[in-house]
Amino acid sequence: MTSPEAPVLDAAEWDDLQRDIVHCTRCGLCQTRTKSVPGQGTCASGLMFVGEAPGGQEDVQGEAFVGPAGKLLTELVHGIGLQREDVFITNIVKCRPPGNRNPHDVEIEKCLPYLRKQVRMLQPTVICTLGNFAFKSLVQEDRSISNVRGQFFRKGAYTFFATYHPAFAIRNREFIDVMKRDFALLGQKVRSLHGNHHHA
Ligand code: SF4
Repeated sequence: MTSPEAPVLDAAEWDDLQRDIVHCTRCGLCQTRTKSVPGQGTCASGLMFVGEAPGGQEDVQGEAFVGPAGKLLTELVHGIGLQREDVFITNIVKCRPPGNRNPHDVEIEKCLPYLRKQVRMLQPTVICTLGNFAFKSLVQEDRSISNVRGQFFRKGAYTFFATYHPAFAIRNREFIDVMKRDFALLGQKVRSLHGNHHHA
């Protein structure tokens, strides 16, 4: 039985949104990208991940988190008993900034409506921000990731969770264990919230 609160995804509307992102020319990144990266997966588990921006391999393939950072993210997702297709994985900006520079404010401003619409349509139980950039863009501007990681935040209608960006943990491998602990908390919470939701 589907509970009354469970979102019913309008497949045609969703395809339109993903297609709009693929063809988007709202900001200057459209001139330097190879492919835009709408994000992929589902919110079957209730969980959505948001990183910063596509990198080199993502830009070529048009898929989010397919490089080394994606491999670590996949391992962390498996570690809490989920598959990649059970979670939705995307970024704040959908096109790669040249040379992987940080996205500019105007690019974020132009691109965020896509993420907002993805969130409205998928209705994630928890949105996990990966790294400083996603946390600051979505939750709170003035706190750094090392102070907020491993914690849940309520903002508007949504619950957020903060952890490091997997690319950071690849460069600083001692943080992989910290991320594993964060994911264990995240897994527990999403199971309890998402489970309740379905039995409501
Ligand atoms: S980054 Fe976002 S707003 Fe800019 S062109 Fe890509 S999809 Fe459009």
